[in-house]
Amino acid sequence: MGVFSKLFKKNKCPKCGLDLSTVSTIVHSSVPTAKCPQCDTDITNKLEFLDTRSEEEKQIERDAQSALTAEEEKLAKKLSYLSCQQDEQGRTLPEAKVDIRKLGEYLCANGGTNRMKKVAYRVQTLGGDVRTLQIFWDGICGWMA
Ligand SMILES: [Zn+2]
Repeated sequence: MGVFSKLFKKNKCPKCGLDLSTVSTIVHSSVPTAKCPQCDTDITNKLEFLDTRSEEEKQIERDAQSALTAEEEKLAKKLSYLSCQQDEQGRTLPEAKVDIRKLGEYLCANGGTNRMKKVAYRVQTLGGDVRTLQIFWDGICGWMA
């Protein structure tokens, strides 16, 4: 599942009965993980998710798992590395932030949002911190953090 769209849950918590449809969760991997915000029960396997992403975005995710160009693969690896450059407080290092934005601007100018998303999905697959990219790419090609 994507990191770029929210998935809406259709269920209630099996333990406390909390209506989960109003709880938004950003899903970070192909297997959505979730906990009930009220009773902290692991509800990962008990939820049905409504995937609200467009077909286009789902296709980008599929593309990111296979057909990346050598350049995209290289950029994804670099971004994956940069996204994890943090200080002890978990803040992204300033020089990494600059490079992340530069690479985002490059992708924006050479392929636009779809290419940014494709590379970001690949960063996710590589174990990078996609949330960091999302934040620092804010405004590039209309990207929303
Ligand atoms: Zn609950």
